[in-house]
Amino acid sequence: MRYVLAFLALVVLIAGGLWMYAGTLAGPSIEIAKPVKYVGLAAPLDVTVTAPGARLKTLRIVFEQNGHATPLFSLESPSGADVRQESGDRVRITRQIGRDAIPDLKSGTGRIVVSASRPVLFGVRATQTLAARDVQVRLERPTISVVSTKHYINLGGSEAVVYRVNPPDVESGVQVGDLAYPGFPASGANDVEGVHITDPALKLAFFALRYDQDLNTPIHLYARDEAGNTGRGDFDYRPFPKPFKHSTIPLDDTFLNRVVPAILEATDEIRPQGDTLQKFLAINGELRRKNTEKIASFAKQTAAALLWAGIVFHPYTNSAVEAAFADQRTYLYQGKEVDKQVHLGFDLASVVNAPLLAANKGKVVYAAPLGIYGNCVIIDHGMGVQSLYGHLSSIGVQVGQMVEKEQEIGRMGRTGLAQGDHLHFTMLVNGQMVNPVEWWDAHWIQDRILRKLHEVAP
Ligand SMILES: [Zn+2]
Repeated sequence: MRYVLAFLALVVLIAGGLWMYAGTLAGPSIEIAKPVKYVGLAAPLDVTVTAPGARLKTLRIVFEQNGHATPLFSLESPSGADVRQESGDRVRITRQIGRDAIPDLKSGTGRIVVSASRPVLFGVRATQTLAARDVQVRLERPTISVVSTKHYINLGGSEAVVYRVNPPDVESGVQVGDLAYPGFPASGANDVEGVHITDPALKLAFFALRYDQDLNTPIHLYARDEAGNTGRGDFDYRPFPKPFKHSTIPLDDTFLNRVVPAILEATDEIRPQGDTLQKFLAINGELRRKNTEKIASFAKQTAAALLWAGIVFHPYTNSAVEAAFADQRTYLYQGKEVDKQVHLGFDLASVVNAPLLAANKGKVVYAAPLGIYGNCVIIDHGMGVQSLYGHLSSIGVQVGQMVEKEQEIGRMGRTGLAQGDHLHFTMLVNGQMVNPVEWWDAHWIQDRILRKLHEVAP
């Protein structure tokens, strides 16, 4: 009897010890990835729970506000959430929350609460974790409406729109198909002649219809607040087709042997194999695409204000035009067609080492070799408008430097993919290459940009 009692006492002791120990084991770990700070009319919920073997006893997500708790998810009632086991240990729950999911959602503060437990001690006990995220609820859509009139856009060209957005501090701009062009406070144009805008709700956005987009690409204004609430505004515009020229570029070995090794030496972005022609085709295709992406990446460094001195961009009228914007080029080698590319800029003939002048005032955002463009300079003129200069024999400016309009920024040459001495020049709108002809035209600048600014602030 004594032994039996002692044995039972031992069992109770061990069981108690295990029970206590199990209670000290960590519960599942919980990560609330979204919402970060805001909940709007529609917002994503994204929660990841990690436990050994992804075994969970309970998992509950609720939204708490003003003393109410609205269930968003539980293992018993997933409420339309997407539940995915991401790895052996991780479970991810995603769904839309917002006013559809939480009908009595109110603007103000709220809280996402996640509780999860996992079985321990062979399922006899569970160990729990609690996580919470305080959020701000915003339920008013931003409003956006056009102010300027008469918007005309050429295929491959640029256009500007003035609009009003409320609240004034939300992200907004122009959506052209799948490309977004951010707007900036219109008061950022106040240094340009005669413009005086004080209303912070007024914005100016430059946008483009890419040379390869459909003429009927939908264009509209957008606004988006931090809670994910969106507003949309339509405006009248007319797109115009633009015929692009076709040209033929004969390739010979003298040219290939000069440019191919020089370009490959100056880049680590591609390592093509094969003969010189195959390497040339990799440069003309793959490297060209990578260069285009890199050029587009400088858009995010743009200034929020126009850095222009005078209106028209320097037109390089001394130079003969060798190629125009969006020329459709066919490359021939030994009489056979070997490649096709679109030339997104102007080629302006020059004499070797002729001084190269900045098209307008701005800040240098790039000044170094850039693949097919050889020695290349990119100048930011503000609000997404930038200019690009290629094939320089030498660069005379540094990144971060402010340059005046028509200040010398280097010397012209034939570095990169250039058959003779010339300047490759293009304008960029939010990183997209656009036809520079418009930016050389005083009438166009006056009608498309200044008129719209003067109409709101006469
Ligand atoms: Zn060119």
